[in-house]
Amino acid sequence: MQITQDTVALITGGASGLGEATARRLLEEGASVVLVDLPGGRGEGLAAELGERVRFAPADVRDEDAVRAAVATAAELGTLRIVVNCAGIATPGRILSRKGTLDLETYRAVIEINLIGTFNVLRLAAEAMAANEPVDGDRGVVLMTASVAAYDGQIGQAAYASSKGGIVGLTITAARDLADKGIRVMTIAPGIFETPMMAGLGDEVRASLEALVPHPARLGKPEEYAALVTHIVDNPLLNGEVIRLDGALRMPP
Ligand code: NAD
Repeated sequence: MQITQDTVALITGGASGLGEATARRLLEEGASVVLVDLPGGRGEGLAAELGERVRFAPADVRDEDAVRAAVATAAELGTLRIVVNCAGIATPGRILSRKGTLDLETYRAVIEINLIGTFNVLRLAAEAMAANEPVDGDRGVVLMTASVAAYDGQIGQAAYASSKGGIVGLTITAARDLADKGIRVMTIAPGIFETPMMAGLGDEVRASLEALVPHPARLGKPEEYAALVTHIVDNPLLNGEVIRLDGALRMPP
């Protein structure tokens, strides 16, 4: 789908990391951008820095009314055609551990934000996009962000892996559900990327993570995630698929 002056991209988790890099890239490509993120963080300042084609819509992705308002903000800038779900949290915790077990409340919180929040945005955005005139056959494209954690069974990642595995399962189902509306749904499953989520890694930990990436033996750059987003938007045949973006990384237990 070609990006035009009228194209608006709504990006959750847009105030940081992969979401921020995607916002910057889509702006370069000519889209307008709605940054959706929690109130009180970097969102407002970043939107001001990025210029007049950007708005900040403070919202918790779990909140239906706030997400509806964010979708309405997109309509002020043009036509919502691209949605990138990057909002997420990673809360490690082993199911049974001497250091404290993964409790139900934590498990639920991670599922609520990463999976249910993503579904909430997908559904409300799709509702709006279904009314669009098609461009290159697409009324809209929804991207979701899973993780290699959905596949690799890492110790201490039960909640996170479940939430991301849910997104993997949602991908093909949502793509089929929304096919008659002309809306594509795709998921990127990143390996390990240099973002604030990964900040504070000591040199030793960083070196051990880099060594897990066969080639290129380094962490991913947020710009590389953003480049894949633009490729997916551009390619009408990419639908209902999860793409690992990980340099052939397989996480050990
Ligand atoms: P990040 O922490 O830099 O950014 C995440 C953003 O999401 C933050 O701005 C945060 O405020 C926002 N957010 C959190 N909870 C929210 C909520 N309830 N409502 C709205 N916004 C909320 O993280 P990142 O590294 O850019 O990760 C982006 C996505 O990519 C996440 O879903 C993460 O799980 C996934 N991912 C990241 C990596 C990595 O290595 N960085 C690897 C695999 C998957």
